[in-house]
Amino acid sequence: MNCRPGCGACCIGLSISSPIPGMPNGKPAGVRCIQLTDDNLCRLYGAPERPAVCVRLRPNAEMCGKTVEEALAYMEKLEAETRPGPVPSGEPENRPS
Ligand code: SF4
Ligand code: SF4
Repeated sequence: MNCRPGCGACCIGLSISSPIPGMPNGKPAGVRCIQLTDDNLCRLYGAPERPAVCVRLRPNAEMCGKTVEEALAYMEKLEAETRPGPVPSGEPENRPS
């Protein structure tokens, strides 16, 4: 499928952990990317500064839905499901140091 013109939902709904020009720590889910124009186009399209994750992301029916609202609702649910939860007390944090 093709990207919906003027959508921009994934540039708002998804979290990005890599640096974005103007957002050196990336962006949390639900925050509008600073590089998204008022008409929901990427200012960095085709530029080398565009994050690799944005270049790789392809529209798909499940994520994009039929409307911007459907896409944002899907991403909100996805981010909530994949957010790291609290470590249960009494168990060691098994993270690489
Ligand atoms: S949510 Fe889908 S249709 Fe909307 S901008 Fe992202 S990839 Fe394109
Ligand atoms: S850099 Fe461009 S494609 Fe990536 S989130 Fe921002 S506006 Fe969207």
